[in-house]
Formats: sequence, structure tokens, C-alpha cells
Amino acid sequence: MSRHTKIVATLGPASSDPIVLETLIRAGVDVVRLNFSHGKAEDHIALAASVRRVAALVGRPVGILADLQGPKIRIGKFAEGKITLEAGDKFILDAECEQGSRDRVGLDYKDLPKDVSSGNVLLLDDGRIELEVERVVGREIHTLVRHGGELSNNKGINRQGGGLSAPALTAKDMDDIKTAAQIGADFLAVSFPKGAPDMYMARQLMLACGGRALTIAKIERVEAVAALEEILDASDGLMVARGDLAVEVGDAAVPALQKRMIRMARSKNKLAITATQMMESMILSPTPTRAEVSDVANAVLDGTDAVMLSAETAAGHYPVQTVESMARICLESEKSILITLDRDFLDRVFTRIDQSIAMAALFAAYHLNVKAIAALTSSGSTALWMSRLNCGIPIFALTQEPATQSKMTLFREVFPLLMKEMHNDPDVLRYDVEQRLIEAGVVIKGDLIVLSYGDQMGLTGGTNTLTIVRIGERAPPRV
Ligand code: PGA
Ligand code: MN
Repeated sequence: MSRHTKIVATLGPASSDPIVLETLIRAGVDVVRLNFSHGKAEDHIALAASVRRVAALVGRPVGILADLQGPKIRIGKFAEGKITLEAGDKFILDAECEQGSRDRVGLDYKDLPKDVSSGNVLLLDDGRIELEVERVVGREIHTLVRHGGELSNNKGINRQGGGLSAPALTAKDMDDIKTAAQIGADFLAVSFPKGAPDMYMARQLMLACGGRALTIAKIERVEAVAALEEILDASDGLMVARGDLAVEVGDAAVPALQKRMIRMARSKNKLAITATQMMESMILSPTPTRAEVSDVANAVLDGTDAVMLSAETAAGHYPVQTVESMARICLESEKSILITLDRDFLDRVFTRIDQSIAMAALFAAYHLNVKAIAALTSSGSTALWMSRLNCGIPIFALTQEPATQSKMTLFREVFPLLMKEMHNDPDVLRYDVEQRLIEAGVVIKGDLIVLSYGDQMGLTGGTNTLTIVRIGERAPPRV
């Protein structure tokens, strides 16, 4: 339980088998990502059920993140499945083409020819292939190949500099939101949002379908970078979606953006996931490169809540080794962080009682250097606030709500624990918390902890009490 940074692993053919899934969860996966760019609703529903079964078997909460495909613009299919382009070739993106060939291919977004003009640079397959637009002729985009390579069916298209105007939530996304709600997903990731309205809309649709997921905005468009603040205000968190983002803003701009995004998310009490190519070479190799080790470590130092794996666990040869390596790197990097409680909260004014208690708990925990913080929470907010300030002390978030427990799986420094009962008598409650923490193996007799709770149990936003407890000091209460 000592790793503070969380691991999100994308599921796919390499990891859907229950035995592999179990090994992955035991190796440290905190949240699984269901990628709605692939597979059918039934597949996701079955996989989510399997994740829940395995998590219960292992005895560890595992969150479920449903990641919508979004309006990723893609080319169509080729008669032969793929072609090879060479620099200097002419190539046509043709909205009306059904079967691609050596000189042209279709488009899923039929209005793309209206959005581009001569001189634009289009990047295919995450930037591996570069096309320069020479002219647009009706429904055809005539291009010159600048960087060639193999191009296969349904690869994605981005424009350098961004600005393609496909709407953020497609009809497929709307159907998938229903599936995500049905699954009871803990997190809903929205792909390619351009601004706050996209995020409000996703949340409204999800709520209307009876979902309860926290919303995560994938920052992967130039426009989203410009609207970062308002997008965050409209979401519960963000994903630094480095794959598409790098294509839109240029790869060299991404590291600084990553730092800015994570900092802004934390300061607004929001979550941050760092994603894409973190351990890319481990798709084919049992060990990471030095650069990958540094990348994961730097994301940890930047303060990300979670690091994410995509193809490494979905389709790679070494899914378990990848998670093990990632966990090891996170742990080691966390040790090197100089713990200095962020001070800016000292100057802030809190009007909410629960938020003030959360800050006071951090302050006391930090100065007394206690073993752990225990936060009784029904919505998870107390634990979220506490986890934003880099206190370095593990936060055990105790809740009676399984849904709250599973959404806290993404919060850095937070270890969600389920409590069967929360007694109204504070003496009994304190005793039960001590027992629960001893049972979880996180404290022993004599340890000091900081405990926060609400004296009206189960009332959301009701945290109003802070107390310091020495484990085992008091006699068990008579009930
Ligand atoms: P994707 O999103 O894997 O769904 O494309 C992440 C990214 O673009 O980095
Ligand atoms: Mn993407």
C-alpha cells in the first residue's frame, strides 16, 4: 500500500483474460481503462463485470475508466488493407472513396475537405506520415507526401496546429455514454473536447443515463490548451493525452504543457492522468528504456495522480512486467520527493467547514509527522482536498459507499477502504477506525494518526471534526 501514484492500465486482447487480469491487479493496477475506440458495447460490459469479479477476489478496489472514442478523424479502408507511401508521391483523401488504393483513400468525416486548405499539413497515424495539402477539389483533398511509410486501414488524421471542426461528442459517443453508465464506470474520459461546453454536455448526458462517473477531459487539441482553465472548471480532471496533443502542438511543446496542466489541475482540486507512450518499448521488450524510466519518474515528480498504459497492457507482449516496472519506478521516485506541504492554502480563505477541516488535518498531520491520516468520507471530497497538497502522508479514506471507494482509486496518496458500519457514537467510531486500520496492516499500537469525520454520519459535506488518535491508547468502548 505504499505507492502513492496510481496506475491506469488499458485493457485489450493482451489483458482481458481473467487470469492475466488478476496478475495485473496484483501487480498494482488501480484503474482499468476500457477503450471505446475498439470493441462493442457487449464486450465492454462483459469486461467490466470480469474486472469487478477479479477485484473482489483479490480484495483490492479497482476503478473503471470508460474512454470515449470522440471525433477522431480517420481515413477509410484499403482494398489491400494497407499501402506504402513515399516522400514526393501524390495522394488524395477523398470523402467519397469507398475502397482505398495506392493513390486515394476515403474519410469517415465527410466534411474534412471543407476544413482544410492548401498549405495545411496533415499528420496521419500519430504523425508517422505527413501530407501537405496542395489543393481541395470538391470532396477531394489533393496532397503531396512529405514523410512516407506504411499506411493501413482507419488510421487517425490530425492537422498540425489543430483547428479541425468535427463536433466533440459523436452519435457513437452518446451511445457509449449509455453503456458507460450501465457499467457503472467510475470515470468518463471525453476525447478531443474543445471547450467547457463539450464537458458539460458529456456530464449531462451521463447523468441523464443514470451514470455517476467523474469526468476527465482529454487535452489533445490546440483549442483545449487555450481553454484549459474553463475546461477544468467543467470537469473533474484532465488527461495529458500526449499522443494526439503532440501531433497538434508539436512534440517538443508537450513536456512543459504536461507540467502546467498537472499544476493547474491540482490547484483547482482536480485530477490529472499522464498518458501515452510511457513504456512504449515494453510492448515488445521485457524492460523499459532509460528514457521511459525518466518519463514515468518525471510525471510522478510533476505531481500526476496517475500514470497510464495504453498498448503496453492492451496489446503488448509483457503487460504484467510493464505494470511491475511502472510501480517500481513510481515508488522509487516518490521517495526522492522533498516533502514540503504546499503553503498556498495558508493564505486562502475557506468558507466550507469540511474543507477547512481537511486543511487543518493536513497541517496537524504534517507537523506531528503522524503515521497516517484517516478521513471518513461519504462523497470522497475530504480525501480529494487532502490529496492535492503533497503532504507526503498516506490518506486512508474510509467510506461506506462502494461507489466512493472505487472513484478514490485514482486519487494520489489516497488509499480507499470500505467500512461496513459507521457508528454514531464517536467513541465506538474511533475504536472501529483503529481496528479497521490495524486490520488493513497500516498502523500498529502506539502509532499516531489524524482522524477527520462528521458527527452526523453519512451526511455528505458533513465533516466537522478533527481528532488526533494514538492507536490502542483507549480501552474498547462498551456498547
Ligand atoms: P487515445 O488518447 O489513446 O485515445 O488516442 C490518448 C492520447 O491521444 O494520448
Ligand atoms: Mn488521443
